[in-house]
Amino acid sequence: MAAEIRLFPCLTDNFGYLIHDPVTKATASIDAPEAAPVIKALEREGWTLTDILITHHHGDHTAGIPELKQQYKCRVVAPRREAQRIADVDETVGEGDTVSVGSLQGRVIDTPGHTAGHISYFFPADKFAFVGDTLFSIGCGRVIEGDAQMMWQSLLKLRGLPDDTQFFCGHEYTESNGRFALTLEPGNDALQARMKTVRAARAKGETTMPSDMGLEKATNPFLRVRSPGIRVNSMLSRAAGSGPSGVLLRGWCRRG
Ligand SMILES: [Zn+2]
Repeated sequence: MAAEIRLFPCLTDNFGYLIHDPVTKATASIDAPEAAPVIKALEREGWTLTDILITHHHGDHTAGIPELKQQYKCRVVAPRREAQRIADVDETVGEGDTVSVGSLQGRVIDTPGHTAGHISYFFPADKFAFVGDTLFSIGCGRVIEGDAQMMWQSLLKLRGLPDDTQFFCGHEYTESNGRFALTLEPGNDALQARMKTVRAARAKGETTMPSDMGLEKATNPFLRVRSPGIRVNSMLSRAAGSGPSGVLLRGWCRRG
């Protein structure tokens, strides 16, 4: 049976995510921006929280842990390299480790750059990936603790996931990301089409998640730094010699 995913807004522009295994009834929260919306989503579904999978230590991804832990006695899984900065951690993981949520199996991918120990979770059987603040739809996370090269290597790993991988990021930044992307590639038909969908969704107050890797490869400038449209852009041309992604990553600082 396929995993079930629920997404809901948290804080100002964070996403909350639950993944549920219908076989064992195990349910995980991906990150914990705040407890109340997570609890509300659990109660709406009649699910019990068994696990919290953390992508990185930032407060808008971890503040809900203590209250959720107290209420559900759930397991907290966190990136090994920043576990000391996260409350109530039970298990630490890194590149190549497997995380089980009931019978669902997630693979850990190290994706540093936004923070030094940031990780993503890829569930190959269901083909979905939770990428925190590394990759956003039509954008990427601000490089805070790493450098552009480190972030680029992380983006390359995510770009290597199958095109039909559904991906879920940490923030609803898609529309403003898309406006920036259109200044780089105004002639990208896939991007124009995607933005039409995004604007319609946002106008109705709907989310732009999930996206899939195929769509991102066609529209996300941070995965397309070698495309002709991106390469001829004057802003990037000025940075020739500084690495394929350096200027994009330095020039575009998303919070998150
Ligand atoms: Zn963050």
